[in-house]
Amino acid sequence: MATTKKNNIKKSTTSVSSVKSVFQNYAPAPESIDHIQLKSQYDLFINGKFVKPLSNEYYDTINPATGKKIASVAKGNEKDIDAAVKAANKAFESWSKTEPKERAKYIYRIARMIQERAREFAVIETMNGGKSIRESRDIDVPLAANHFFYYAGWADKLEYAFPNRNPKPIGVTGQIIPWNFPLLMAAWKLAPALATGNTIVLKPAESTPLTALKLAEIIQESGLPDGVVNIVTGFGDCGSALVNHPQVNKIAFTGSTPVGKYIQKAIAGTNKKATLELGGKAANIIFDDAPIDQAVEGIVNGIFFNQGHVCCAGSRLFIQENIAEKVIKKLKDRMRTLIVGDPMDKNTDIGAINSKEQLEKINHYIKLGQKEGAEIFQPECSVPANGFFCKPTLFIGTSQSHRIVQEEIFGPVLTIQTFRTIEEVIEKANNIPYGLSAGVWTDKGSKIFNLTSKLRAGVIWANTYNKFDPTSPFGGYKESGFGREGGVHGLLPYVKF
Ligand code: NAP
Ligand code: MG
Repeated sequence: MATTKKNNIKKSTTSVSSVKSVFQNYAPAPESIDHIQLKSQYDLFINGKFVKPLSNEYYDTINPATGKKIASVAKGNEKDIDAAVKAANKAFESWSKTEPKERAKYIYRIARMIQERAREFAVIETMNGGKSIRESRDIDVPLAANHFFYYAGWADKLEYAFPNRNPKPIGVTGQIIPWNFPLLMAAWKLAPALATGNTIVLKPAESTPLTALKLAEIIQESGLPDGVVNIVTGFGDCGSALVNHPQVNKIAFTGSTPVGKYIQKAIAGTNKKATLELGGKAANIIFDDAPIDQAVEGIVNGIFFNQGHVCCAGSRLFIQENIAEKVIKKLKDRMRTLIVGDPMDKNTDIGAINSKEQLEKINHYIKLGQKEGAEIFQPECSVPANGFFCKPTLFIGTSQSHRIVQEEIFGPVLTIQTFRTIEEVIEKANNIPYGLSAGVWTDKGSKIFNLTSKLRAGVIWANTYNKFDPTSPFGGYKESGFGREGGVHGLLPYVKF
């Protein structure tokens, strides 16, 4: 009997129990990277094959902890995007009709393969992006696998997500992602699009293409039909070509607010659907009845996790005035214990800044904060001489009009303001163009409910911070964008009725 492509899932080399043990015995010793297979040159992934860019141009991708080149990566352009979109359009004909339970198998397979190669993914993510190996290993990679597992589960249950509405896939989706969570953002985008029967052209950020390309290898091995997922590396013009391609029916974008605004203008009147996950400047609010030590941990995690390259980073701290002195002292003491340095070292708390440009931007804001008259605190700590690093930084005595309070710095820089009343802090927290996330620290449940209804933020954490799960929707208000990713809500942008 002839085998059809849809049944062509390759046999797994690992049983479910051994996948479990991969995680249980997962002792990364990440300092050793000898076994990691890196190529010297990476091509585009189009129609199930790795192909050279039509221009034959490549660019260097670097390790931000050393400033040294890791590999050459294909610089895709408008013509490569066109080839990828055409492949995705062709693949849509059969993928959209593939039985949902078959689609689920492929997605589940991809999740399993990420787990099996978790260590490799973690090391590459850290080498290419600068984040600490602890975070890549414990957060980025397992969460990426979990997103595929979670949406694999939805593929054959869409009628329960949208009862009596007969959801149908949209077609070719163009997905554009940033450099701060390269693998995880790829998973956030690909998993729901695949589960709902769409095909994809993904454009990774120029500075962090390597884990997306590793994922392309897995996708190829998984037997997913050719053209269902295409990955085109390149610069902003490559993203723009994807946005403007007439055969792309939906854009899913995570990145900066200026590029989000450009996309919104570019697709106006085209009938393309879009979700935009943009910048943020979150308020992290601590009341005098909060468990202070726990809150200080949450504040530190809120701003220094991933070097502060986090759209939902708790970058504006609001402390109730009567406990300000105590909280600031504890915060400074905790900051003195943070280790800045080699991201491959499992003791490192703050790894490398993602790029030279980003470090320059952060340093510009640090100078600006001092010029604006705020008091700066940076603990004494050693920072590697090569690569791009930044000490954890605190600005005390900032006010609402300071630019360091209003603008997204996207680095390990925290501003502190104080407040007396709940009304005052709500007003200040909301008085900003962004509305992605917020944190509240208090012992009183009633205060939490009061604040969650009044803070204009898509995600609000109470007595914790930066907790992510595939079941939870994520997205913003105001200039932080629109649409939700994650959870059952994350299926909606990928279906039509
Ligand atoms: P970015 O400059 O907006 O880039 C994001 C992606 O868009 C990259 O792949 C980029 O390619 C591409 N791009 C650039 N210009 C484009 C254009 N004209 N048309 C189409 N695509 C274009 O953002 P970033 O600097 O990578 O990431 C940091 C920003 O992302 C921050 O503002 C952060 O808050 C936001 N972010 C938001 C979320 C969220 O969920 N809300 C999550 C993470 C990050 P290049 O890499 O070649 O420039
Ligand atoms: Mg950029």
